[in-house]
Amino acid sequence: MIYLDHAATTQVAPEVFAAMKPFLQDQYGNPSSWYRLAHASAAAIDEARQRLAEYVGASPREIYFTGCGSESDNWAIKATAWTLRDKGRHIITSQIEHHAVLHSCQALEQDGFEVTYLAPDSTGLIAPEQVAEAIRDDTILVSIMHGNNEVGTVHPIEEIGAICREQGALFHSDMVQTLGKLPLNLADTPVDMAAFSAHKVHGSKGVGAMYLRRGVKIRKLLDGGGQESDRRAGTENVAGIAGFGKAIELLQEHGDTESLRLTVLRDKLLEGIPERIPHVIVTGHRTRRLPHIASFCIRYIEGEGILLSLDDADICASSGSACTSGSLEASHVLLALGYDHATAHGSLRLSLGRDNTEEEIDHVLEVLPGIIARLREISPLWADAQRHRGI
Ligand SMILES: *Cc1c(COP(=O)(O)O)cnc(C)c1O
Repeated sequence: MIYLDHAATTQVAPEVFAAMKPFLQDQYGNPSSWYRLAHASAAAIDEARQRLAEYVGASPREIYFTGCGSESDNWAIKATAWTLRDKGRHIITSQIEHHAVLHSCQALEQDGFEVTYLAPDSTGLIAPEQVAEAIRDDTILVSIMHGNNEVGTVHPIEEIGAICREQGALFHSDMVQTLGKLPLNLADTPVDMAAFSAHKVHGSKGVGAMYLRRGVKIRKLLDGGGQESDRRAGTENVAGIAGFGKAIELLQEHGDTESLRLTVLRDKLLEGIPERIPHVIVTGHRTRRLPHIASFCIRYIEGEGILLSLDDADICASSGSACTSGSLEASHVLLALGYDHATAHGSLRLSLGRDNTEEEIDHVLEVLPGIIARLREISPLWADAQRHRGI
């Protein structure tokens, strides 16, 4: 099997599994307890917090472990809104955010907040000037993701953050896809809050983290015991957090060389697929792009068909389209980039990770043209295009 869906999730690394295991077995002490059995649990959390902080250029006191990346996004956005609602009720985000951000903003609209959804250009880029134009005296929060999970476009968060600072609005950025792929130094980046997730970097599902800059006061997420500096109550997912720490340690050791390796494989796909298959559009930005995401629209075909055929060929990939109650819904990201529904339906995302080899990429380049040709043969869109456009 060839797994090319690392932007959706990744396999827990063997080293990470080994780091998690003791906390699921013998080391089961509650980190808040006082006896020696509990010390190892508390120490594992401290160490993971230290590692993540060091890796992203933050202080350990600015890192809060959460249940997932979505939770971190929800916390940052909703807590900021409710904390600052007397100062203003306007929020700025983009049309191409992850649903954890988009739906949090939509929920706030229901509660009387006003949200501006900035439209990206055709490469998926939000320009700092757009933020500057949209920002107002009553803007309390700007949320723009760092790297887009569908088309890989990387936003200029330094410039966007600088505008927010100047205007006195808090700046949140979803960095789930950039963690481990691009160098981060949050101390020197004008960002107040950021979201991370362990399972996108070979950690386990069900652990995330939120960066909250020191001095930024927003509501706590969960009331209860005093865990996570009294901001997110609940006995910690010790095994998951310990694994997250190990995943970060692996990134500290190999992350940079791995990103370069993935960039080479990505470019092979970005160049090789349009070379071998007619009527393919590369989506996203050519240069401001995450190292592990290659994304396309394969015209005159439906993404669902491509995925089923790839699955038959033992290749796991993803399409921006989500099958909602039987009807295919085109990706909100591709529609925001300006593609029509038919084109957006032919989307294909291949996302790379540490186990992918060059041979696997060569294999995909070899089998994909045949798969697409067969699908087009039975596609009414293709027949129609040939009839009417003479292609
Ligand atoms: C996966 C992902 C999330 C959600 O993370 P979970 O831990 O699965 O909740 C949020 N934002 C982006 C950009 C993602 O890719």
